[in-house]
Amino acid sequence: MTNPYKANRITENFYEIDQGGVRCFLFIGDDFALLIDTGFGGELLPVLREVTDLPIKVLHTHCDRDHIGASEAFPELYMHPAEFACCKKKNNIDLPMLPVWEGDAIEVGPYCLEVVLIPGHTPGSIALLDRKHRFLISGDSVQNGTVYMFGEGRDLLAYEASLGKLQDMADAFDVIYPSHGDLTVTPDTIGKLLRLTREINGGILPVPQPAPAHMPADVKIYEKDGVRLFLQM
Ligand SMILES: [Zn+2]
Repeated sequence: MTNPYKANRITENFYEIDQGGVRCFLFIGDDFALLIDTGFGGELLPVLREVTDLPIKVLHTHCDRDHIGASEAFPELYMHPAEFACCKKKNNIDLPMLPVWEGDAIEVGPYCLEVVLIPGHTPGSIALLDRKHRFLISGDSVQNGTVYMFGEGRDLLAYEASLGKLQDMADAFDVIYPSHGDLTVTPDTIGKLLRLTREINGGILPVPQPAPAHMPADVKIYEKDGVRLFLQM
């Protein structure tokens, strides 16, 4: 059984769709609504219909299973093309995949979401930046939960470069909305993750903590300044 979804209003035409352990976001425009990710799967559409009757397009921050679980219920699915292959491989559903690219700007109601490519967690991970409302949607890449950086498709060197890219843009936003952990984190979370990742890539590893028992035995948690990575060393 997956957790039920719950829609929580953040501000005008902008909702968190919380599934306990993962969250999606919903923006309501004039003639369509934009859903960011679809969670673990389950009865998502009826919860969205509580807040909008509009056609719903889906944009994926990336295509790990906890972000595309209910995507088959929607006809228009967008993601960066670097996710196409792993999306097809990781998931048994045949999703119609449409591309978004670095720099694309998606206008939905009062919001304008700019696509920022941040490979590392997955090859086609994206963040979404609204410069007018000064927020960033970060997917899994920036959060105060533990970032999964082991397994197929993870790239810790690319992740470091992407964190540097976000760090350089950090004067454009005041708040970050991640998919896991707290609903909001502050932009200094990027710098903390960048320092930790840079040290690990440079061979300086903090003393690891044990990962939950269901994970492979050589996966450990590496933590510094309140940010954490799952790594398989
Ligand atoms: Zn995730």
